[in-house]
Amino acid sequence: MKLEIDTHTHSIASLHAYSTIDELAKGAAERGLAGFVLTEHGPALHGGLPHPYYFGNMAVLPDRISGVRLFRGVELNVIDDAGGLDLTLKYLRALDFVMAGLHEACFPPDSKEVNTRAMIAAIENPYVDCISHPGNPAYPADYEEIVKAAVRCGKALEINNSSFKVRRGSEENCRTIACLAKRYGCLVSCGSDAHYRADVGRFDEALAVIVEAGIDGERIVNLTLDSFAEFSKRRRAERKAA
Ligand SMILES: [Zn+2]
Ligand SMILES: [Zn+2]
Repeated sequence: MKLEIDTHTHSIASLHAYSTIDELAKGAAERGLAGFVLTEHGPALHGGLPHPYYFGNMAVLPDRISGVRLFRGVELNVIDDAGGLDLTLKYLRALDFVMAGLHEACFPPDSKEVNTRAMIAAIENPYVDCISHPGNPAYPADYEEIVKAAVRCGKALEINNSSFKVRRGSEENCRTIACLAKRYGCLVSCGSDAHYRADVGRFDEALAVIVEAGIDGERIVNLTLDSFAEFSKRRRAERKAA
């Protein structure tokens, strides 16, 4: 199985990443991808940077760079357990892909109950399309309830390739999530979480977990350019209607 789109990448605008958007696009092209999603961190992670205007001005970017399709996204920070996010909603309507995730600087790890409630509230937020790295072991959670919420809301859960390296102990959690996703028919997205150009499209370990769980290709939102464009189109319409 080969994925055509990388749904999770960061440029230098994310402040702890090391490649420009052009370099990420070259990385995607070199990896043979059809496209990638630029998903800078929401402003709460680094004291208000990038400025919200960064996300509001993304229309100036071309749809194709270095022969690959650029999708405009974000990786928001979950900031409470009631569905709160760190970017003005008006900017989210225009984006192609809105991820939200738990990061230590914005949502200190809490009890299993609170972490679960925070992830489910984010899933239920009509502006969110996908939860990034839900298998992070820093945030013990009830994965069955999270998967069921994602199915109920038509949202995706990410199997994040960088988790195997930077979030130690993620592997078993990702396997559990993938097995539950298979059982309940949950949508998944497979992202590299690249913070450097050479890592764009690097998702072998995450994809192996998805394949091993037996998840159907139709449930992987970024399997092909068309499947991702279709998911994005549906979610954009749902965000506009929210
Ligand atoms: Zn993240
Ligand atoms: Zn990320």
